[in-house]
Amino acid sequence: MFRFDLQHESNGARRGVFHTPRGDVQTPGFMPVGTVGTVKGLTIDQVAATGADMILGNTYHLRLRPGHETVARLGGLHQMCGWDGPILTDSGGFQVFSLGALNKVTEHAATFRSHLDGSKIELTPEHSIEIQQALGSDVAMVLDHVIALPAEQSVVEDALARSIRWAKRCRDAADRPEQALFAIVQGGLDPELRRQCATELAAMPFEGFAVGGLSVGEAPEEMYATTAVTTVHLPVDKPRYLMGVGTPRDLLENIARGIDLFDCVMPTRNGRNALAFTDDGPIKLRNAVHREDTRPIMEDCPCLACRHSRGYVRHLFNANEMLGPILLSHHNLTYYGRLMRQTRQAIEEDRFSAFAAGKLRGWGYEPMDAVA
Ligand SMILES: [Zn+2]
Repeated sequence: MFRFDLQHESNGARRGVFHTPRGDVQTPGFMPVGTVGTVKGLTIDQVAATGADMILGNTYHLRLRPGHETVARLGGLHQMCGWDGPILTDSGGFQVFSLGALNKVTEHAATFRSHLDGSKIELTPEHSIEIQQALGSDVAMVLDHVIALPAEQSVVEDALARSIRWAKRCRDAADRPEQALFAIVQGGLDPELRRQCATELAAMPFEGFAVGGLSVGEAPEEMYATTAVTTVHLPVDKPRYLMGVGTPRDLLENIARGIDLFDCVMPTRNGRNALAFTDDGPIKLRNAVHREDTRPIMEDCPCLACRHSRGYVRHLFNANEMLGPILLSHHNLTYYGRLMRQTRQAIEEDRFSAFAAGKLRGWGYEPMDAVA
């Protein structure tokens, strides 16, 4: 029911299509994050108009509120939020990690306290799959043990070994052919641990593979290097997903290292904070320089914000009007969506390096070796 067609490669970048029962996902592709069953600030039609093929839902948040059983009674996540394309759900592992002091990990489970009411919740690999099945996502993720970087070697090795054991438990628990299961490669910034983890997981029957444990405080260059040493050990005929990444620069540098899928809250979170992504780098719309600027954020952008002047968008933020965050969330997701579409075309036409180098220089970065 799931198949990945690798159609073309250009300078390490991959152009593909991930076929799912609910529709095709063009890759490289970006998945807008719908944490609690909504991409913040946008209607589902507005999300679709940004060019997204697949969106993401957060298992941890939906488990707590409204509760996975309630989502199931409301017809599942697709029915509930009105999105009929594919949906990927994470496993809850990253949220347990990001809640830091509230969690405890044993071989059996990750135990944490709800950030809503303090109640104690035990997340086993099996329970994570049960929740994702109740949500009805098209792609489920294995529960992994996420740690902060930098960390002691023994801590990294312990989390990696547990992540592999938990991946097996998730594989055994996942029994719905209409729901794909992606494994998550851990191993910190250590190339040998990444190789070991990728090799072990690649030998197991997963429909896709994620690179996890990045974007947790390491330098961009460390992230790119780790992606590169991981993807070489992953099957070429399965999609590769870099979790929780990132800036437009991160997207292109990691596509150059063989990544197909991304998700990140950055376009919407930054949009809510008056920051707009453009080909010339980010623009802060609260700045006084935009006060009487009649130009749109980007001349050729088809989004809802770029029908208006920068001066108007700035005014909306200054007046605390809810339309400001809505417009910039739409602009940023449209920007990411177009960036991915342009990237796919550049790969098809064998000019990915030149394309990526041009974009990176526009944002103020010198392209790294994989792109230059
Ligand atoms: Zn725009």
